[in-house]
Amino acid sequence: MTKVLVVNPPVYDFSLYDFWLKPYGPLRIYAFLKRYNNLNVRFFDFLDRYSPYVNAYGYKYKDAYGKGKFLGVQIEKPSVLEFVKRKYKRFGIPPVYFEDELRSFKPDFVLVYTGMTYWYPGVIEVMNSARSILGKKVHIVTGGILSTLCPNFLKEKGVDTVIEGEAFDKLASIFDLPSKKEEDHILPCWSAYKELPYVVIRLTEGCPFRCPYCASYILKPRFRVLDIDRTFEHVKKMASKGIRDFVFYDDALLVRKKDALFPFLEKVIKERLSLRFHTPNALHARFIDEETAYIMKKAGFSTIYLGFEFQDERLQKKMGGKVYTYEFDRAVNNLLQAGFKRESITGYVFLGILGQSPDEVERALRHVNFTGIRVMLSEFSPIPRTPLGNKAIKEYGIDDLLLTNCSVFPLISMGEEAVKYLKNLKNRLNASIPK
Ligand code: SF4
Repeated sequence: MTKVLVVNPPVYDFSLYDFWLKPYGPLRIYAFLKRYNNLNVRFFDFLDRYSPYVNAYGYKYKDAYGKGKFLGVQIEKPSVLEFVKRKYKRFGIPPVYFEDELRSFKPDFVLVYTGMTYWYPGVIEVMNSARSILGKKVHIVTGGILSTLCPNFLKEKGVDTVIEGEAFDKLASIFDLPSKKEEDHILPCWSAYKELPYVVIRLTEGCPFRCPYCASYILKPRFRVLDIDRTFEHVKKMASKGIRDFVFYDDALLVRKKDALFPFLEKVIKERLSLRFHTPNALHARFIDEETAYIMKKAGFSTIYLGFEFQDERLQKKMGGKVYTYEFDRAVNNLLQAGFKRESITGYVFLGILGQSPDEVERALRHVNFTGIRVMLSEFSPIPRTPLGNKAIKEYGIDDLLLTNCSVFPLISMGEEAVKYLKNLKNRLNASIPK
């Protein structure tokens, strides 16, 4: 029987908070592969905050909605990041436990998920561990964001097979399995975890917008509504196991709300499920009318994150025109009228994108604060293959993906002083929002 180990790698970064971070894609791959008797499949998530390996360090913390800190250890900063005056860390379960898993399970294939482009050191760590323990015979396969955006980079690093885009059919061909049909909506396999503080879900896939800094359309070229009934049954099942917090990973949850979100929430309301929903991916404020705000409140939305991004109308237009100031203000007003508390609503403002001045960021921060809600900075990372990412990489001579880190690029594009000032300003403005 072929043995397969699906891995969510550790993360090397300046900071990492479990802002409802679960490897949704790898958990679906795990569910898919587990269906077949010719495969013996296991899952290893370096970022499982509830793993006994993490608990062994006496490290346990979660906030009211299941978010929390990851176990992180300071490591030497790569020389290209030397100019950043912050500690560089490795987040996740220590390597020794993964090495034990490799020795005992002896997988033939290690499937590694690749997330942010600048998180490649975690992928390399997993690959090196597998090679050092299992030798050349282990086949390393990668899929996910970095694999889709920079496949050659990973091939040059020694990955055997790099999957670009949707992975199911490619895995079916590697393992000689029947292909996945599009209507076969595979849900994540949560039994991979012993303890689970929240569950992530999707009602839609992709996004019809084309913001020049975003890779959504490269990763999921088609925008479509998924199987709502199946997702609802999945939520009900997980709720019966005691999960209360459900997190939407949709890129465009509200765009076809009458086909997706509304029917889903109507079921939640009808069955009187007492749940809490969260939207860490910014919602499109344009689509939050009175009815939408009301139904979201009634169904149990607890935290709302809205994209504002820029205050300058020319910049709003240039960056895709997905929201204008009056639409954002109207959305906030509708949410407040529906009964959401001010501190449960947050507006995102961009920091460090090409063509944006520190003054523009300040105006946007102050505007969000003026509407009476919290504000968060969304630090720009130039994503390869996106129009604006490519432009930024060229303009600033970025020659290492580590420099595309969202904690790093704004320092390059705006300067340390401006970034520090704007972060402090954001904190001061949030302190003025009554709790
Ligand atoms: S609306 Fe959001 S998900 Fe869609 S392209 Fe723009 S940034 Fe990406």
